[in-house]
Amino acid sequence: MPAIIPIPAFSDNYIWLVREGRHAAVVDPGDAAPVLAYLESEGLTLSAIVTTHHHGDHVGGNAALLARFPVPVFGPARETIPGRTHALAEGDEITVPGLGWKLRVLDIPGHTAGHIGYVGSDANGGVAFVGDTLFAGGCGRLFEGTPAQMADSLGKLAALPAGTRVYCAHEYTLANLRFALAVEPGNVALQARLRRDQDKRDRGLPTVPSTLAEERATNPFLRAGEPDVFAVAQARAGRALMDAVDAFAVIREWKNGFR
Ligand SMILES: [Zn+2]
Repeated sequence: MPAIIPIPAFSDNYIWLVREGRHAAVVDPGDAAPVLAYLESEGLTLSAIVTTHHHGDHVGGNAALLARFPVPVFGPARETIPGRTHALAEGDEITVPGLGWKLRVLDIPGHTAGHIGYVGSDANGGVAFVGDTLFAGGCGRLFEGTPAQMADSLGKLAALPAGTRVYCAHEYTLANLRFALAVEPGNVALQARLRRDQDKRDRGLPTVPSTLAEERATNPFLRAGEPDVFAVAQARAGRALMDAVDAFAVIREWKNGFR
């Protein structure tokens, strides 16, 4: 089974490199340089590029990687992805070249209009590559989608098995958890998670991946329908909210201005 390695890029991105034998695939290579350096130092050959959405910090390295390794590029059908050879949408299944690794595609729009995610498994169980849709302790900004779309996308991810490890593309966890604590100051699991993840960052370790079980217990964007969270959102809005999507929209707005 393949191993999944974080390659830090820019100030807070993670490019996920998946290796098996002498081959590797990368998920969302915003920058080619750190990927090429890792491949070189480990004696690996790139066999595929896997893309979740069109933002530059996710696709900016495609051209330079393709110049060195002319490999298949998997990406969302509804977005423009440099070098894309395989246009994907929900229901598609791919086998990553070189790794023989099977991934299933989910449509998870909201951050961008055509954002997709990939679900598969490694030796330790289920994994999901979610780009900028679900973050550890948070969710992506709504640049191209509506709150209803994003809430639906997060609902799809939240329905995956509890042990699924969630590979998002940014180290935003501590800021997200501080906001989550403003929403749910009494959430004991959240307090414990913030201590645990603060300790990881103090030791220079990634907080990603998290598990879906952790996200369901502590991520306010998956908890908008919980009575306590709904009540907080309603108080924040100063009006009666209709449903969990309405509460989600209020919490997303609140986070946009939270410092
Ligand atoms: Zn993005």
